Amino acid sequence: MRENYIKGSDNVCGVIGDPIAHTLSPLIHNTLSEKLGQRAVYVPFCVTKENLKTAVSGAHALGIKGLNVTMPHKQEMFKYVIEVSKEANTVGAINTLVYTNEGYIGHNTDAEGLALSLKEKGIEWTGKKVVIIGSGGAAYAAYTAVADTCESICIVNRTKEKAEALKTHMTNYYNIPTFVYEDAEDLELEAYMVIQTTGLGMGGLKGQMPKCSEKLLKTAEVAVDLIYEPWETKFLETARKEGCITVNGFGMLYYQAVIAYELMHHMSCDKEAVLQIKQELLKDREQ
Ligand code: NAP
Repeated sequence: MRENYIKGSDNVCGVIGDPIAHTLSPLIHNTLSEKLGQRAVYVPFCVTKENLKTAVSGAHALGIKGLNVTMPHKQEMFKYVIEVSKEANTVGAINTLVYTNEGYIGHNTDAEGLALSLKEKGIEWTGKKVVIIGSGGAAYAAYTAVADTCESICIVNRTKEKAEALKTHMTNYYNIPTFVYEDAEDLELEAYMVIQTTGLGMGGLKGQMPKCSEKLLKTAEVAVDLIYEPWETKFLETARKEGCITVNGFGMLYYQAVIAYELMHHMSCDKEAVLQIKQELLKDREQ
């Protein structure tokens, strides 16, 4: 009989979103299980907004041990969990559900995933100025990732009201000087690290970058783009040519998945093995 068949005692986990075909989460979670020798299987589920409530109660009835949650359900999910972690409240989104007998607990692992991916590269922002470009869900995670120790945060966004809303939300959790600006070519700002969180640079917006980028990147030391497809966006290419340390979004994606894996399976993964698995996943790509 085959050794790698799914057994009745295996943990079943998955990811829900709409659309879901593009997700790399099954690749990451199933590779982690295989390499770490865990008996578990992780599957993608396309769930529409209309079916979200039924899907969550159905998953619980089926005993699904953990679910990742992706667009467009990260905010809506607050309605369907029995408890919310501090991180999920701070980021304002749930990306991970962990099974209990009474229902699911909602977590968010994006901010910690980003922080780990930066620390892995030796990047340290304590006492330094950070600029966050964008004010969508990813910007909330970026703010949470750096706000514990940085000196100040400047939020730059096309729509200033959304940047103001991000600042107001974060005053509930942090006491860090925060300044808000509208994206503009002549914006005068200097920072140690610039984190690009908008969708500019991917899909139909490939080859584009926020207006403030060119000027900001002339003085920044570290440039982070949460996009990983393409591997190097126009923003990161410009930053590299200016001599910045550059980081794309793959590390954040990978480490948010590792932290979610640990929560779902109630275990901690060996750090060396986690790093090795990341390198294996990237073996055909530039690192
Ligand atoms: P979102 O909530 O839709 O926010 C999008 C942001 O991009 C907003 O600030 C929006 O500005 C700005 N934007 C969009 N189009 C723009 C344009 N043409 N010009 C200027 N600004 C524009 O999206 P999100 O969830 O924050 O995701 C943003 C990016 O982060 C995506 O590329 C996503 O793939 C990436 N991401 C990566 C990871 C990872 O693990 N690496 C995790 C989450 C997200 P307005 O406020 O003016 O509309």
